[in-house]
Amino acid sequence: MKSRSLRFELTFWYSTVMAVTLLVMGVAVEQVAYNRISASIDNSLRQAAFTVISEVGVLRSKPDAEPFGETSTVLNPPPWPPRYVQILSASGEVLYRSANLGQYPLPIDSAALRDRGRGMVISPDMRLHGEPIRMITFPLPEYNGSDAAWGQVALSLHDLDRARKKNQLALAIILPAAIGISAVAGWWLARRALRPIDGVIRTAQRIRAANLNERIAPREVDDELGRLISTLNELLERLELNFRQVSRFSADVSHELRTPLTIIQGEAEVALREGASREEMQLALEVALDEAQRMSKLVKNLLMLARLETGQERPHFVETPLAPIIEDVSEEGLALARAKGVTFSAHTVENASVWGDAVLLHQLAFNLVDNAVKYTPAGGTVELSLSRNGSSVRLSVKDTGVGIDEAELGRIFDRFYRGDSARNHTEGGSGLGLALVAQIAEAHKGTIQVTSKPGEGSVFTVTFPLSSQAGKARPDMAEVSMIEGIRS
Ligand code: ADP
Repeated sequence: MKSRSLRFELTFWYSTVMAVTLLVMGVAVEQVAYNRISASIDNSLRQAAFTVISEVGVLRSKPDAEPFGETSTVLNPPPWPPRYVQILSASGEVLYRSANLGQYPLPIDSAALRDRGRGMVISPDMRLHGEPIRMITFPLPEYNGSDAAWGQVALSLHDLDRARKKNQLALAIILPAAIGISAVAGWWLARRALRPIDGVIRTAQRIRAANLNERIAPREVDDELGRLISTLNELLERLELNFRQVSRFSADVSHELRTPLTIIQGEAEVALREGASREEMQLALEVALDEAQRMSKLVKNLLMLARLETGQERPHFVETPLAPIIEDVSEEGLALARAKGVTFSAHTVENASVWGDAVLLHQLAFNLVDNAVKYTPAGGTVELSLSRNGSSVRLSVKDTGVGIDEAELGRIFDRFYRGDSARNHTEGGSGLGLALVAQIAEAHKGTIQVTSKPGEGSVFTVTFPLSSQAGKARPDMAEVSMIEGIRS
């Protein structure tokens, strides 16, 4: 990553934009001022030409006088401000030039002399012995007996040039100064604008696992920074929640694994004790094996939960018909129920398919049936049923077991949560069964509903959206009563 401060970047662009703007404006203002002065010089030249024309007319009205002998200030201007006058014959010969020209005549613009019909012609700016001048050439009216055919007036551009140079100098001084000032101002402004970001960085750097509950101080204004801060705070909120879940999860896992490990260790010690009989050793190994199996089941379930949570299981989803799954689970349920003296029955419908994973869906149905049998005393009944309802399919497991306390209902889907009745129960269980059911249902976009009455029984209902193809393939459904198991 390039290491360049945002502050530097902001200042750089701010100053660059400022410099370009000032330069363009300075040049434009200078040009406008020059054009205006230049236009007023042209006007002065034309006016001077008119006065020369009328003065020459006056002189000609005195035919006895020597041509250009007595000249007025029009034809012979004072030395300041510099204005030069020259009269030419039709052939371009100099008949008269004002005294301020000395021995040097005004240059002749032969292009202007070519055609009298063009009237007054202002020549491009030129130099007269180093002095910048602008010159106008104009035809003089024809008078009998006079040679004078052209007049020329020139004005010094000295003042215009000086004003222009002064402007350019001012621009050359003001521009860098203005850029310097804008750079300093930009640097200061950028620091002011970025100061709150420094605060955010410092707080974010301070936040570690130990103080994940810390938050960046929110801003009162809802600007970009305010939104960034609230987004970061929301992120921290989620991180904290996840972190707490992970910590609780690790604590729960170690707690759950400690009991079987302690039992295995105890049994191994019994088996290794000096003088242990063959029967004692056999019993100890059987207990250790039981616990090892329980641990392995627990780890398998945890792995599945973790995979579901990270979404790793989902890529295997396909169009999955539920009837075969219900058939398999029914057989397992029947065996479990028989062993416990519980009546088991199952009802299913054909052509109910969901978008999902058959192994996970089997696990979901089995966990519900397993729980129903586990928490139903001998003599009770367990019913597994599958039904279609519009665009959804409903899987329900109903039992006449111990039921669940209302206070417990909200927690039974938590990991490692085991109800009071379950803890006293002799049959195993780790409190992961329903957590898995919930995760699997969520992965299949399903919803779970539980109704229960302590002492009377419970109904767990999972509703899944039917996969689109399933509905289209066979719109009519046949309800089949599948398995009926009677108490053994
Ligand atoms: P466990 O391994 O304890 O069965 P679960 O996650 O499957 O863990 O269930 C969590 C708790 O929910 C159980 O300990 C039990 O208290 C309660 N529970 C679940 N299913 C039933 C049911 N069918 N009848 C009564 N209680 C149930």
